[in-house]
Amino acid sequence: MRPNAAEREALSRMAGARRFIWNWALAQRGAYYRETGKSISHGELSRRLTELKRQPEMAWLKEVDSQAMQQVLVDLQRAYVNFFEKRARYPKFKSRKRDKARFRIPQRVKIADGRVYVPKVGSVRIRQSRAVDGDTKSATFKRDASGNWYVSLVTEFTMPDMPLVPARIEATVGVDLGLKDFAVLSTGECIPTPKFFRQSQVKLRRAQRVLARREKLSNRRKKAKRAAARIQAKTANRRSDFLHKVTTELVRNHEAICIEDLSLKGLAKTKLAKSVLDAGLGEFRRELEYKTVWNRKHLAVVDRFYPSSKTCHVCGAVNDLLALADRNWTCACGAAHDRDFNASLNIKSEGLNILVAAGHAGTLNCSSSECKTFACGGGSC
Ligand SMILES: [Zn+2]
Repeated sequence: MRPNAAEREALSRMAGARRFIWNWALAQRGAYYRETGKSISHGELSRRLTELKRQPEMAWLKEVDSQAMQQVLVDLQRAYVNFFEKRARYPKFKSRKRDKARFRIPQRVKIADGRVYVPKVGSVRIRQSRAVDGDTKSATFKRDASGNWYVSLVTEFTMPDMPLVPARIEATVGVDLGLKDFAVLSTGECIPTPKFFRQSQVKLRRAQRVLARREKLSNRRKKAKRAAARIQAKTANRRSDFLHKVTTELVRNHEAICIEDLSLKGLAKTKLAKSVLDAGLGEFRRELEYKTVWNRKHLAVVDRFYPSSKTCHVCGAVNDLLALADRNWTCACGAAHDRDFNASLNIKSEGLNILVAAGHAGTLNCSSSECKTFACGGGSC
């Protein structure tokens, strides 16, 4: 978004009101539960909000879109449901310093002529790279750490009627996410980790050192803080761009994709935690999940305890002596392996086992007991 000074102020006011209502509603829920032992109903909370807005010292809330305020109660309700269903932590009070400024508008949002219409704020200029498909349902407005505002839209459209067909074995790919390279594919392709990950880390560390030297509450500190936030925001954008390109290409070029379930908690204990792409792995999987669904393709997630690196893809023997530092190794059967390429082949065959069992991949015609890897493409052994 490209808001002018007045619009910027109005947007911040909306975000401030959202935080205020969130904290107020959270306190109301807590107090109600302590008094009655029961959860407050949505109707009761909504009634109390109307009452709150009538109080003279709350007049400033009239400057704020009432639909957006009602939405806060819905968002909080969802936060509780997510907590009870063990998807999220208990909802917390929002702090002005820690939390990003944001708010959501539930009704249709108009986008036209390079502008987005925001109730009680006005028509704000936006930079839009492509048209919005379908009916816009709701919009979320967010300010990042470097002060830029973004709007993201939820739109509704009908999926084209495409059948879900089983993947062909030769159109299936195994992906090994690595330390050295971002990913190695079972096709032999390698996706290197972009240089900017490392570069921006160096830049950020330098900016943070400068920030640490600045005196508290000084203008120079404020400036240094903004500079560090800008680097962070830019890195996040570039990472997002990189991940989208990789996942889109993978889905476009293959019928099924096999990946490892890299649980982030398990990863944090290893050296990979220091890796520059740690923040991107969960997102990588999330994108593959929805992009395969959208394009009627398949995704197989291999159990994270499956020893993809240690298993020889030729004979199936497991090499327990393989260390994290070993890039190459030779199996007792004589096969020489590149660690990551071998892993990607194993992920592919393990993924294919899952897909075949689910009826999502063509069954093997190959009857040879020697063929453990699907390397023959399913019929030539
Ligand atoms: Zn072997």
